[in-house]
Amino acid sequence: MVANVLTQIGVEALNKTFTYKIPDDLLDKVKVGSRVLIPFGPQRLEGFVLSLEHDEKNYDYKLKNIIDVVDEFPVLNDELLKLGEYISKTTYCTLINAYQVMLPAALKAKEKTKINIKYKYYIILNKTNDEIKEFISTNKRGKKQNELLNCLLENGKVEKTIFDSSVVKNLIEKDLIKIEKQEIYRLNTNVKNDNKVIELTDKQRQVSNEIINSLNRNDIFLLYGVTGSGKTEVYIEVIKNVLKQNKQVIMLVPEISLTPQMVNRFTNVFGNDIAVLHSRLSNGEKYDEYRKILNGEVNIVIGARSAVFAPLKNIGAIIIDEEHTSSYKQDNHPRYSAIDIAKIRCKTHNCPLILGSATPSLESYARAKKGVYKLLELKTRVGKSKLPIVNIIDMKEEIKSGNPTFSSQLIDKIKDRLNKKEQIILLLNRRGYSTFITCKNCGFTHKCPNCDISLTFHKSSGTMRCHYCGYADKKLNTCPECGSHELKDLGTGTEKIEEELKQIFPSSKIIRMDVDTTSRKGSHEKIINDFKDEKYDILLGTQMIAKGLDFPKVTLVGVINADTSLNIPDFRSGERTFQLLSQVAGRAGRSDINGEVIIQTYNPEHYSINYTKMHDYESFYNREMFIRKQMSYPPFYYITLIRILSKDYNRGMEESKKISTYLKSNLDEKTIVLGPTTSIMYKINNIYRFQCIIKYKFDDKLDNILNKIVNHYKADKDVSVEIDVNPNKL
Ligand code: ADP
Ligand code: ZN
Ligand code: ZN
Repeated sequence: MVANVLTQIGVEALNKTFTYKIPDDLLDKVKVGSRVLIPFGPQRLEGFVLSLEHDEKNYDYKLKNIIDVVDEFPVLNDELLKLGEYISKTTYCTLINAYQVMLPAALKAKEKTKINIKYKYYIILNKTNDEIKEFISTNKRGKKQNELLNCLLENGKVEKTIFDSSVVKNLIEKDLIKIEKQEIYRLNTNVKNDNKVIELTDKQRQVSNEIINSLNRNDIFLLYGVTGSGKTEVYIEVIKNVLKQNKQVIMLVPEISLTPQMVNRFTNVFGNDIAVLHSRLSNGEKYDEYRKILNGEVNIVIGARSAVFAPLKNIGAIIIDEEHTSSYKQDNHPRYSAIDIAKIRCKTHNCPLILGSATPSLESYARAKKGVYKLLELKTRVGKSKLPIVNIIDMKEEIKSGNPTFSSQLIDKIKDRLNKKEQIILLLNRRGYSTFITCKNCGFTHKCPNCDISLTFHKSSGTMRCHYCGYADKKLNTCPECGSHELKDLGTGTEKIEEELKQIFPSSKIIRMDVDTTSRKGSHEKIINDFKDEKYDILLGTQMIAKGLDFPKVTLVGVINADTSLNIPDFRSGERTFQLLSQVAGRAGRSDINGEVIIQTYNPEHYSINYTKMHDYESFYNREMFIRKQMSYPPFYYITLIRILSKDYNRGMEESKKISTYLKSNLDEKTIVLGPTTSIMYKINNIYRFQCIIKYKFDDKLDNILNKIVNHYKADKDVSVEIDVNPNKL
């Protein structure tokens, strides 16, 4: 018997398998999908078995033996093996990359990520109770032995560590007891009983029923429900019904909404029938959660993007909450979309896919309008709670009155809420203290030497840092160009806002949440819990505070600068701004007390901001669709981006031009090819970035052409290309 093994060799990993002989002692262990250890030249590598062949006579050279099988079970089942092929084909990555991205670190084919299964050891009896009792009665001098045996007679099973190891050893030798080992899982979820009994509202019931009535069909639902409309309870109702059919559920949520509260809510309803997967778990914890799934111990998987690959065998529904979230698409290679993967898995399992959002992506809403997705709506909040009143503040006017950061209205409202002991959320989508430092005299700006970006000043560490490559430097005191001491901080970040808030409201308690304050494990949860427990009055943060959080005491949301996302030169910036503002506004007034939102902007007339004020998704959608149509952007056209990377600017530009010409002369004549241009960030980490944009409705030549380009540059040491189908960012 021989096995064809796929492995990662160097960077230029080919989609080629290598053939090995299966030694006799491994014959019943090596299966399709198994992870195996193989000799490869002088090295030992891990790989996945993709197929088996009975006849080794087909090979006229001597095959090497597989050294060992790594796991007790195949890590890739048939469904995952096929999904890997799909990812490889649609994202233009190698097959091995596709398989690696689907698996937790502990199961990837890489020797360095060995993670052990943890066990607990128990003592159990190895004889009948009568035999044991008989032994005890004759064992007059073995007091400690009898103690242990009596304990076992009473409890059946006790943890080994409780007893003296010499006593245990002694009884094992006498064959009276034996040791049993049991896998234990590292992740500890402390469940707080929330005693919540929730009766669905009529509307929630109606929407749930629509989904439940088609559980055995491969429909796609778009659940468009305003913030606070109780989408979570609809998901819970659907899951209950899927479980009744003895089927399983995957629920994806944005990384940042995977808070203990959320998991707690599900644990309260479904007990420990849940595995949780997200990036803040350690590799060991992830491995354990994954094994719960493999061992068939759970029927519900809740997780971020990669949880869409959870190896459940009998899926009855996949739910994707906040479906518009850009992180459902991986933004490095392989650039797969969890929504696409979910669609394929739902088709395979013939079950529904439920996409939920208060601000659906334009693509999804357009599909719902066309009837490709079934549209379900929750237009009002649950109970007495109403959508908040939104005020827009024109900062051009405020700056004239000498208020560059906080408008007088925002200050007044914060004061008011502090007096009433209500809570406040403030959003500024920029971390650090100031986002650039320039010389007043000569205009010099302190930039990253590796990237095309100014360095951000972080006051707490006294450093200038690059948010792209991690470069850090001391803060300059004099201008390196002209020697002037007049260096100016510009561009306010969260650190500076925190400092100013403390000056204005010295007795208020403020907590900041951004990448810098949440790098330690558990810090993210702690901030959220502390704020929920009202240990703080004000939660200040970047976009990570905008989504999914449910704090009943928050009655004021302030957006310090709505223009940060608006000014990004990307066709989606209007959509992203509307989503971010609507989501963060949705954190206000989620209980009986009405909420209020203040949005500060230099573009008060912008439609994204105005439709946020009116909570008018529909009009926003129509306006944005009009623009997209005029500009031939999605969802009217598909886009594929080719990015060309090189350390050598001239070479990169030259190859980009060649690629553009090649595309223009070989693609369908209705297809639009733009570029080459430099990317928005034209240099990151000393690598120059160029791009061509391909817009098309249908082009059956495209796939073949893209493959040719990818293959052409595979062996090029100086130039590489990346293909991004349906890119999130241009
Ligand atoms: P969404 O995800 O749509 O923004 P949530 O699911 O977080 O909204 O629900 C908002 C709040 O309303 C939560 O505190 C939730 O517990 C509560 N809630 C939802 N449905 C009901 C209901 N039927 N009865 C009472 N409270 C509910
Ligand atoms: Zn200067
Ligand atoms: Zn940099």
